[in-house]
Amino acid sequence: MGGPPEMPAPTVTHRDSLTPDLTSDPRDRSDQRDQNDQRDKRDQRDYRAAFAIARLPMALVGRDGRVLEANRALGALLGADPVRLNALAAAELVGLHADERLRAEYADVLAGRSEQLRCTRPVRARDGRTLRAEVTVAPVPGGVLLSVEDLGERHELREQLRHLRMHDPVTKLPNRALFFERLATALDRAAESTGRVGLCYLDLDGFKAINDTLGHRIGDRLLSAVAGRLTDCAARLGRGHHLVARLGGDEFAVLVEGSTGTGQATSLAESVLAALQRPFDLAGQRLAVSASIGVVEREASGTTATGIMQAADTTLYWAKADGKARWTLFDPERNAHRMTRQALSSTLRQAVERGEFVLEYQPLVAMGNGSVRGVEALVRWQHPHFGLLGPNRFISLAEENGSIVQLGRWVLAESCRQARQWQKDYPDDPLFVSVNVAVRQVWDSDLVADVAEILDDTGLPPELLQLELTESAVMGSAGRPLQALHALHEMGVRIAIDDFGTGYSNLAYLSRLPVSTLKLDGSFVHGFRNDQHPNPADETIVEALVQLAHRLGLTVTAECVENAEQAERLRRIGCDTGQGWLYSRPVAPERIAELKGRQAP
Ligand code: C2E
Ligand code: MG
Ligand code: MG
Repeated sequence: MGGPPEMPAPTVTHRDSLTPDLTSDPRDRSDQRDQNDQRDKRDQRDYRAAFAIARLPMALVGRDGRVLEANRALGALLGADPVRLNALAAAELVGLHADERLRAEYADVLAGRSEQLRCTRPVRARDGRTLRAEVTVAPVPGGVLLSVEDLGERHELREQLRHLRMHDPVTKLPNRALFFERLATALDRAAESTGRVGLCYLDLDGFKAINDTLGHRIGDRLLSAVAGRLTDCAARLGRGHHLVARLGGDEFAVLVEGSTGTGQATSLAESVLAALQRPFDLAGQRLAVSASIGVVEREASGTTATGIMQAADTTLYWAKADGKARWTLFDPERNAHRMTRQALSSTLRQAVERGEFVLEYQPLVAMGNGSVRGVEALVRWQHPHFGLLGPNRFISLAEENGSIVQLGRWVLAESCRQARQWQKDYPDDPLFVSVNVAVRQVWDSDLVADVAEILDDTGLPPELLQLELTESAVMGSAGRPLQALHALHEMGVRIAIDDFGTGYSNLAYLSRLPVSTLKLDGSFVHGFRNDQHPNPADETIVEALVQLAHRLGLTVTAECVENAEQAERLRRIGCDTGQGWLYSRPVAPERIAELKGRQAP
């Protein structure tokens, strides 16, 4: 075997050497050829140098399968001077000879019948170790290029990268990604130990202020110090696997694998709070921090990493809401309540469109003779999953998300339609309908226009409609609400103040508004419910209120009249109208006619 052959040059097509340009001067052409030769030589030199110093172990192999030239990296890998590898059978160096199928494939590449061979082979390295290596053989002019990649090294590199990717550079703790991975594994493997997992999800109180006032460097040092204390606390748990992670910002988590019960998780939370209570001395600053911790401890089966994190998130929120610097244990009931609130809130709007609401009516009875004068319309949600829901479950939600406007409009239209029907059925004994109006309906919708349109559509006389607003809705009324009240009053619609006595109870102010009725809150009547302990104070107050209201030209309706004795006292005091279970619970519209002592047609 002679010296190494020419190194493979890049496949550059020299136009003039293949298709001589006959139009140009022959002298020019020979100059050109010289230049090209020089360039080829330079290219070859460059490629040889690159081959020699490349980190990837490589060898040029002749068509006979013998090494023509090996580079330094291959020499280093195999523990030999690269020159000494010359003329050796390349297949034996990298274990291609051992397998018959591989041998055949290798022969195909050598013979130029195949484009490439790539396989993973055990390669004996210089130090006696056997490496797992990826061997690639591909044809080049004059032979094949063989390269060997140490997969172990690649694996190590990958591990290093993974470590960087999975850890937080500030605290050196596992980060969110690793935490989730470990949590999922913990859930999968829980059956091998106690079958339970515990989690403390923690957030520093007021960390942002420290960061903002003392700077990020101090902030980062504080986070590192906190990480250290958390790691100590977790280590004291002893038996089992624990993982402390930084989930981002000032949020940390301690995962307890093989948890022994809520007791373990809450005492861990307790010890974390105690550990963080000791002040931190950082760069001459003495810092005090506290933390809020959401604790979730549960059986692993039937739970997911996302499920547990959602629970932890909710619980942490409770801990914050309950006053911070504390731990709170996940409470399924509290959560169910939150979930239904959410579920209800998000479906309210469609529910109005789908017509899932119904109205019940509760009689308003004249105290003097017990006759039914009017009815209050009370809305209920016939929910497809949760059954019949009372307004206390959804009115505040509807106010929060604004769907009260649509809902209120529906209630108004439906009550007016029903009242008009009663008026037609019993023209001699009219029944007014009293409809609750939420604050937002006054502010966020054109209540006056809605009422006018509905009265027009249904044909209900305005005097058979009463609107109930709360004190807070009309107090301090200026601008829009006040204009609305006046416009409604002028239309002939009556205004009642609902739940009177629970708010400002500013009668003098109310009397200046176009209000005609006070609905005395149920708590007054409850106040003198007990026969054994009649509460003269309440009775005196109610009596004074009624007298004052009358003097100001207002009528008074008492809510929550539950027994005859209350009714009697209210009547004596001078209440005009009563509403309550004594007379009737809220009922379906068909029952109202019966309550009036007549039969519906
Ligand atoms: P409210 O306007 O003060 O209605 C009276 C509430 O007292 C009704 O509760 C009624 O069922 C209840 N009640 C009646 N008699 C008695 C009694 O003798 N004893 C006791 N303990 N309670 C009695 P409900 O139907 O649960 O309605 C609660 C509140 O929801 C209403 O209080 C009202 O503020 C609101 N609401 C009801 N319907 C609507 C509506 O269509 N729109 C708006 N914005 N709010 C409504
Ligand atoms: Mg009411
Ligand atoms: Mg009321």
